[in-house]
Amino acid sequence: MEKYLSQLNEAQLAPTIQIDGPMIIIAGAGSGKTRVLTFRIAYLMSKGIDAFNILALTFTNKAAKEMKGRIADIVGSSEAKNLWMGTFHSVFAKILRFEGHHLGYPSNFTIYDTQDSQKLMGSIIKEMGLDKDIYKTKQVYSRISSYKNNLVTVKAYYKNPELMEADAMARRPRMGEIYKEYVDRCFKAGAMDFDDLLLRTNELLTRFPAVLAQYQDRFRYIMVDEYQDTNHSQYLIVRALADRFQNICVVGDDAQSIYAFRGANISNILNFQKDYDGVKMYRLEQNYRSTKCIVGAANSVIEHNQTKLDKVVWTANDEGEKVKVHRALTDGDEGRYVASTIWETKMNEQLNNSDFAVLYRTNAQSRAIEDALRKRDIPYRIYGGLSFYQRKEIKDLTAYLRLVLNPSDEEALKRVINYPARGIGQTTVDRLIVAANTYGKTIFEILQNIDKVDININGGTKNKLKDFVTLIESYQVMNKTANAFDLAEHVTKTSGLIRELNKDATPEGVVKMDNVQELLNGIKDFVEGQIELADAGDSLAEFLEDIALATDLDGDKGDPDHVALMTIHLAKGLEFGHVFIVGMEEDLFPSGMSMNTRSELEEERRLFYVALTRAEKQAYLTYTLSRYRWGKLIDAEPSRFIEEIDEEFVNIVTPLKQQRVNPMLDDSIFGDIEPNRIRFAKPKTAKILRKDSKKKPEKFQISTPKKMKPLADTDNSASSFDTKLKEGNTVNHDRFGRGEVLKLEGTGADAKAEIKFQNGDVKKLLLRFAKLDIL
Ligand code: ATP
Ligand code: MG
Repeated sequence: MEKYLSQLNEAQLAPTIQIDGPMIIIAGAGSGKTRVLTFRIAYLMSKGIDAFNILALTFTNKAAKEMKGRIADIVGSSEAKNLWMGTFHSVFAKILRFEGHHLGYPSNFTIYDTQDSQKLMGSIIKEMGLDKDIYKTKQVYSRISSYKNNLVTVKAYYKNPELMEADAMARRPRMGEIYKEYVDRCFKAGAMDFDDLLLRTNELLTRFPAVLAQYQDRFRYIMVDEYQDTNHSQYLIVRALADRFQNICVVGDDAQSIYAFRGANISNILNFQKDYDGVKMYRLEQNYRSTKCIVGAANSVIEHNQTKLDKVVWTANDEGEKVKVHRALTDGDEGRYVASTIWETKMNEQLNNSDFAVLYRTNAQSRAIEDALRKRDIPYRIYGGLSFYQRKEIKDLTAYLRLVLNPSDEEALKRVINYPARGIGQTTVDRLIVAANTYGKTIFEILQNIDKVDININGGTKNKLKDFVTLIESYQVMNKTANAFDLAEHVTKTSGLIRELNKDATPEGVVKMDNVQELLNGIKDFVEGQIELADAGDSLAEFLEDIALATDLDGDKGDPDHVALMTIHLAKGLEFGHVFIVGMEEDLFPSGMSMNTRSELEEERRLFYVALTRAEKQAYLTYTLSRYRWGKLIDAEPSRFIEEIDEEFVNIVTPLKQQRVNPMLDDSIFGDIEPNRIRFAKPKTAKILRKDSKKKPEKFQISTPKKMKPLADTDNSASSFDTKLKEGNTVNHDRFGRGEVLKLEGTGADAKAEIKFQNGDVKKLLLRFAKLDIL
């Protein structure tokens, strides 16, 4: 441990080795807050504190995983395994599995993701005959979400005239009814939405003191990263749990509070000292991440905010290059600049794709960047947006699995009752919903008793419904003995899903099929990693929970060497060598919707601070003169934030305000020539470029994974699997990277390879699913 402690500076060491009592570390970006939390956990364990008694809450599950890995390096993996670490949602979902019965929830409750919640709200709005242009699903969803995050239950809502009036003023007087119906329907479906995971935990800890005492006793040491972005509900949970032992360590940076729009409350960090007795406050001032120029630029920007704590951030790192500002004509031009700069820098400095990130304010901006990267064959990955698990084909398959575990799950049932088509129409489904509401039963219970209920459905359709029930029940029987992978594979083949996907020979259809294969691979990996689970049925429940709670950053797939594309919100806590912040334009960043009040503008500025401080070596800012927005080409103004950077740290190549060039000429003038590359290439660079460009094909070609054989409706196509794979071969796996084949076993459909991957993991993979390239 001593060896590790020597990797901290003095200011970092002090909170790391303070074992007991409440403490807060407030410090600027890149100063080692997350590092301190990580080392502190390892230190506590080295002092004999049981991993079972430590709880660490992070912003993403990926962050928790990385932290755990680091801790395992220090204290050993068998010890680290017992740590409770993860996002608020994933940690409390686990607790609710054990304790939800106190609140009337089954332990196999489903987690509704945003899509499920919004679908349910949409159907409630429709059932109630409300105007969907006034009761817009997304708005209703975020309104209900904010009630829940402020612990306003339905009952509390009706006792709060202010809220009711606000909704009435917004022409939505029936919000309360929607809210009530939504809560009732989720409850009946045995489902919790994301906000419920916090709301119900609060309810549990408040109403059941014995349960609270049990978890207080368990979590004797609590740590929270990114504390500035906790919302009210999360704040209360932490307070309740820490109340007994008061061993709580939170870290954060008020200047990086960027989730107020989603209910995060910056005062949680500002008031921490009032919440506990004898709070020790630590400050870290040295930034280890970025160059002097980047730190200087970020400091000068945040100076413009009035509401902030006084903080010093400095660095002993190199001066580095000034922040580069680039003016583009259009978003296409901006994309080309980004791609060509990445391409050149990568070559000149021998960097990887993963040394680069492109950050934007809104997801819609990614398209132009993607196009340009694709043209240059630069591998990239978009984080956020529609996650893998939210794609239609994936949700269809997981809906079947969800129904197996929890047949009350209304959203899953509605999704697959007629998919693949089995002649059950929407009218029938509507009648089933009405019957379920009338009888106070779930739709599945109505289906199971379809002959006994009074419902206007003809005999032929009734038979189809009965077949559907039989199908699901047969899966339930199988789930008692089979593992999650075998079940999922069986469901894929027998539900008709594969047949449906096979019909679609378009490139999109092929991608969908690949995705389903990928999901099955994921389940396989999961099952293999879960051998310690005694009960086979559990593996399905755990897998479904994992995917429901995967955050936008989790579940890294594909080639790890890619340029990362994401919104700034998602980039919190991360770092990259070179960072492009694109779309630095008024109305876009700062967002046009956030300029009404000073506090909104200050949140946008904090967002810019977060973006800049992700960069280690070089930050680039780009803006365009005109951009397509809402389907129209509009003139754009450079963002005020550019001018706020102290000029000593910024290099504005073209004056911010210059005569506009007709953007329509953009493509016609430049075509495929890259104007920016020419403008920026120094003579030396240009030479290197020419020389190196000969090598381009082999160096920059991305190897596309081999196409997998599509799963057939029945099993035998896979059994004719033919492999040239030999023991000792070096292979590349789509997700795990490079590895060496240690052993081959089994034949045909059961052929497996034991592979040792570069990160040291040894995995046994089923060859018919593993996407392996022999190198
Ligand atoms: P953010 O505010 O962005 O979340 P942070 O305060 O959590 O940043 P870390 O991510 O913990 O900062 O650290 C930033 C970088 O500096 C990391 O790469 C980390 O490994 C490195 N670092 C932190 N402290 C030290 C140190 N004492 N010696 C060397 N490197 C350090
Ligand atoms: Mg951090």
